[in-house]
Parts: sequence; C-alpha cells; structure tokens
Amino acid sequence: MNHSFSLSYAMEADASDPLKNYRSRFLFPQHNGREVVYFTGNSLGLQPVSTKEYLLQELEDWSRLGVEGHFEAKNPWFSYHEMFAKPLSVLTGSLEKEVVAMGSLTNNLHLLMVSFYRPTAERFKIICEKKAFPSDTYALKSQIRFHGFDENAALVEIAPREGEYLIREEDVLSAIETHKDTLALVMIGGVNYFTGQVFDMGKITQAAHNAGAFCGWDLAHAIGNVELKLHDWQVDFAAWCSYKYLNSSPGGVAGMFVHEKHLGKKETPRFEGWWGTEPTTRFLMEDTFEPMQNAGAWQLSNAPVLSMAAHKAALDIFMEAGFDNLRQKSLRLTAYLEFVVDTVNEKHPGAIELITPRDKHYRGAQLSLVFPGRGKAFFNALTRQGVIADWREPNVIRVAPVPLYNSFEDVYRFGEIVLNSL
Ligand SMILES: *Cc1c(COP(=O)(O)O)cnc(C)c1O
Repeated sequence: MNHSFSLSYAMEADASDPLKNYRSRFLFPQHNGREVVYFTGNSLGLQPVSTKEYLLQELEDWSRLGVEGHFEAKNPWFSYHEMFAKPLSVLTGSLEKEVVAMGSLTNNLHLLMVSFYRPTAERFKIICEKKAFPSDTYALKSQIRFHGFDENAALVEIAPREGEYLIREEDVLSAIETHKDTLALVMIGGVNYFTGQVFDMGKITQAAHNAGAFCGWDLAHAIGNVELKLHDWQVDFAAWCSYKYLNSSPGGVAGMFVHEKHLGKKETPRFEGWWGTEPTTRFLMEDTFEPMQNAGAWQLSNAPVLSMAAHKAALDIFMEAGFDNLRQKSLRLTAYLEFVVDTVNEKHPGAIELITPRDKHYRGAQLSLVFPGRGKAFFNALTRQGVIADWREPNVIRVAPVPLYNSFEDVYRFGEIVLNSL
C-alpha cells in the first residue's frame, strides 16, 4: 500500500474505514480541549459509552430485586458468566465449553498451574521468556518453591541473543529439546508485553507436547489483538485479563481456557469452590463436589456481576464489529504507524529504532520504539503535547493504535508531534 505522511491522506483513510463509527462509542480523555492521541489501549482500554448503562442495569436490578436478582434480574446473576462463553470462544478460537470469565489474571495462572504444573523429581522445569511480565515471573517462581524445588534450577528463561531485542523462536524450540527429559511446563506470553513480539503458539505448543510437557499461554496482550486458535493448537491452558485490548474496566474480571481434552477428568487436580459444581445441584449445598464438565469447573466464587457487566458492554461491541474486521484494520493501522516511524527516520536518520518485528505475522497492534540518546524527558514532552503512550524502563516507548477506536489521523498526529519534539 502507498501511504503518505499527510493529514489529508490520514483523513481519507479514516473516511473509507468501515469501522470508523466505533470511535464515537468510546470516551476519550481530553487534552487542551481535544481528544488525546490514546495509544495505551494495550495497557488500559478506553471506556465504552455503553458501560455506564450496563452497570446501571445491574444496580437497578439489585435495588429492585435484592437477592431475587440471582434469578429474576434481566440478566440473572446466577448464570451471568454463561453469557461470555460465546464471545470468549470467538476471541480465543475455542469451544464454548473451554472458556470461562472469572477471577483475575495472576490468580487464574496460579489456579491453572495447580492443575498443569505438577512437578516430579524427574520433571520439574518450566520454560518461560526472560523478562516476562513480573507478575508471571513471581507466579512461576512461587509455584516452583511451593512444590519444594529450587527456582534457579527449575526456571529456564529464554533471553534474546546478545545485542538483540526479540526472542528467536528457534531458541525456544532448542531449549525445549535440551530440557525435554526434565521439562514439566512451557508457559510464555503469547504477545510479549515489552516488544510486542507474537510467538508461534501452535508450533511451540506442539514442541512442548513432543517433549512430554504441558503448554500454557498468558494472553494478556494477545486477546482482542491477534487471532488465536487455542483449540486447534491443542494448547493445554491459557489465561488473560480483560482491561487491556478488551476495554472491560480497570482490574475487571479476567478469563481462562482449558482444552477440551482436560475437561471432566477426575484425575486432574484442581482447587475447588462452589461455583465449579454443577449448577443443578449447587444450591443443594451438598458436601460432595460435582465438577462442571466445562472450564467452569475451575470457578471458585459466584460471579462479580458489576465487573462482568462492564465486560459484557465491551464484548458486545467486539461481537458487533467482528474480530476479523478489527484485525484487518489493525494490520493497516499499525502498518501506517510503521510507515510514519520510517518517515521520521528519513527526516532524522537514526532517531527511532523499531524493535517490534516488521513481519505482520509476528506482531499485533503495538510497536515498541527506542529513541536512542533520548530518555524519559522526550517521552514527557510527547505527553505534554497530548500523546498518551507508555514508557518502559530502560528506554522503550510502547505505542498501540487499536482498531476499535484509534484512527489514521491519530497515527498522523503522533508522527507530527514526534517530529516537533526531536
Ligand atoms: C497486564 C499483565 C498482567 C497483569 O496481571 P493482573 O493479574 O491482571 O494484575 C500479567 N501478565 C501479563 C503478561 C500482563 O501483560
């Protein structure tokens, strides 16, 4: 495609964008009387206009019905979580029975490792990426210690090679091969939060299985961003949060996936709670656990309905827009951002180093940019001009134009502000 770095080009691209009307369905923070250039949907998605209405519905039903709302509310709270099976299965490429909206991301990772990290004297190692999101590293290390193993011996972290930013897939695969006799689990972020690199989840899952290990994915930066086929890839488990690309409110209810092959199995250990039992017998208050035959068996507690209402508001928009359409726009939008970065570099050679892969199969919406020789002060200057991006130590600025509410004009304005600030 022939891009051009001009406001008129960007405005034309917006005018012919079939998803252009979705922008007005979101609330933008303001800066000097106009909308900010909001490029942090990968960190906290914007609030849909409709979220308030969805929340008010539950507040209204609660005030009107009290406890009867569990069965009498417009969307009965008892089965509220069931409404997420369809949209989550679409976004993750799963069967409806393999997904459940519940808990929070790090909590869910722990619950899933109870089931899928069961180290033995022979097999106790976990492969993950070096500099994973810190919460994941804490979760992995504490699981290892909990089972009485040494975290230094058991955690194998795959780093980028010297002088490189990205992790080479071949290095992940060869580590799996090297440790194949002692490997219990491979758990990696499907999209790296720092570099925006997308891993070939199908290929790595296959390699983990060939080595006799389980494979799980943290999809915090993947869900709502890149295409997923968790079922076909034979992924054992996955977890995600809903407040990044899914726009479902700060700390909002998260979700998890457990592959069909592990459902309804008595031998799979699990930490259990009453919401994981068959709904038909749940209120009999029996003391024997009858697990649901779907991923709902991992649920502990009754659903956080207010948080789920925000989640529903957001996912209804995703279903309306269609994920394939969103990904198509995302590819174009991020390609334009890449073009703008290259244009800045033509005017100011070496000003920006793009560390995210240029191959669209290996990236989502986000580009991670290094501005050599310019530190936090440069980032602060962008912020003062109305760009909301994200600074990561030691020197990376992450920018993620998201297809639901960002425009080509946003990307153009970003380029203009960067040029003004160099
Ligand atoms: C955002 C993010 C988290 C956050 O975890 P919470 O439990 O939701 O606080 C964890 N891991 C990754 C990879 C993330 O990107």
